[in-house]
Amino acid sequence: MQATLTFLGTGTSMGVPTLGCDCAVCVSATPPSPDLPAPEPRNRRTRPSVLISWQGHNVVIDTGPDFHAQAVREHIRHLDAVFYTHGHADHVLGMDDLRPLTFQKQPFHDGGNTTPLYADEPTAKTIERIFDYTFGADFPRYSTSARVTLHRIPATAGAEVVLFGAHFQRIPVNHGRHEITGYRFGSAAYLTDLSDLPAESLPLLADLDVLILDALRREPHPTHSHLTKSIALVEQIKPRRAFFTHMSHDLDHAATEASLPPNIRLAYDGLKIDFEIGPETGAGIA
Ligand SMILES: [Zn+2]
Ligand SMILES: [Zn+2]
Ligand SMILES: [Zn+2]
Repeated sequence: MQATLTFLGTGTSMGVPTLGCDCAVCVSATPPSPDLPAPEPRNRRTRPSVLISWQGHNVVIDTGPDFHAQAVREHIRHLDAVFYTHGHADHVLGMDDLRPLTFQKQPFHDGGNTTPLYADEPTAKTIERIFDYTFGADFPRYSTSARVTLHRIPATAGAEVVLFGAHFQRIPVNHGRHEITGYRFGSAAYLTDLSDLPAESLPLLADLDVLILDALRREPHPTHSHLTKSIALVEQIKPRRAFFTHMSHDLDHAATEASLPPNIRLAYDGLKIDFEIGPETGAGIA
């Protein structure tokens, strides 16, 4: 099955431009007037998220604080599921913006009329705490609350969720002291907020066409991979193509990309790539 991955956002937690910053990258990401495009629109990076589309199905990984604007920009009109990587603000705060999309009551394999959210246990707990008015038993559930069901992904490496014939596998990822969740889906993998990869994750990343990796900046950082380290990870994992994301204002798009090998590119908001998400299955496998 052919699928398309759209980068909804490729920025670090503060976004680019970073508020109050006058560096060259932030200035180049800011339109000189509301009517003009930014001089380098690829430096304008909203908070990190990707949309995966195949055979009419739409799934996103993470819903950050820019989700509403991203969904408007990419004309997202329905959503079948959301996968979460971890509970940091730049990855979960847009959950409430799912509401109108969850009111569409699309039929789903679990028989409910809710939109499934998938998260590991610590992330699910964080989402339930932040949005206690949606999930809390002690709160009267508003009729306008998000119609979602939060499913726990087992902590096991390679734990699978199968959606419309596509297998989404949990890839354990180290984010500083925490273990969070990356995903492999068919021939592509999305590993954001990564400082290291546990050894058990490496076999799950064999034979990749597309690897999407965190590359925050040039200097090392305690909870994120930096440019040199991400290049080394690509050389180790050997995907056919790699795209870097979760980037700060340290990385100017054109200058940085010019320094990279041809199989590694910097992602930018709105970039679309085609890949194979799985074998043809026909209809109805859930
Ligand atoms: Zn992040
Ligand atoms: Zn800046
Ligand atoms: Zn994070």
